[in-house]
Amino acid sequence: DKIIIAIDGYSSSGKSSMARALASAIGYRYIDSGAMYRAVTLWAMRHGMVNDGTVDVDNLVAALPEIKIDFKPMPDGSQRTILCGEDVEDEIRRLNVSNNVSQVSVIPAVRHSLVAMQQALGKGKGIVMDGRDIGTTVFPDAEMKVFVDASAQTRAQRRFSELVEKGLQVSYEEVLANVVHRDHIDETREESPLRKADDAVSLDNSEMTIEQQNKWLLDLYNR
Ligand code: C5P
Repeated sequence: DKIIIAIDGYSSSGKSSMARALASAIGYRYIDSGAMYRAVTLWAMRHGMVNDGTVDVDNLVAALPEIKIDFKPMPDGSQRTILCGEDVEDEIRRLNVSNNVSQVSVIPAVRHSLVAMQQALGKGKGIVMDGRDIGTTVFPDAEMKVFVDASAQTRAQRRFSELVEKGLQVSYEEVLANVVHRDHIDETREESPLRKADDAVSLDNSEMTIEQQNKWLLDLYNR
């Protein structure tokens, strides 16, 4: 029988690539819940609702029904994020979106709306979803839960390399500051903060290669 697999953890912990690899290995659908928070953030930025890190909460909440988010599955098992019909997958990964996304993610009405969408996506089971609150709030009954962590330096180095690979001009210090700041907001927010579910299996992958962590996850699934 198909199950729900929840992979939570800190930013740039490598949880997305692990989740994607597992999904494609076992024929499940992969869903990146962070992409949804990023898409709402991009929408708010484009509509002038984010200024100097301050979000115009009332107007954003009023606009939520207009903010349509879809995913387009790709043959390689990845997904493209579609915002109101436009492919925004590349744009939502930029540092200006990363810098504002935690402030949008603290808004309870935003969370309620996205959590409902995430639960709907999991209806038929057979999904691997990654995020911050998947095992605690979105799918508290998920059959398999993993919580991924690595040192802030390791995570910042990974995100930095990704951004540089994409040709973006950023410094390591800037990326590290963003990672640390985002984790702090994610952990201390009132509405479903980032934390390990009691029944999640922990993984610190600081010293693991991508191949090792993918194997660890597949072994856990097969157990
Ligand atoms: O996973 P990613 O780093 O792309 O997520 C971006 C941000 O979205 C996180 O820093 C967090 O603020 C928010 N998020 C969340 N709950 C989730 C997934 C992401 O609050 N389930």
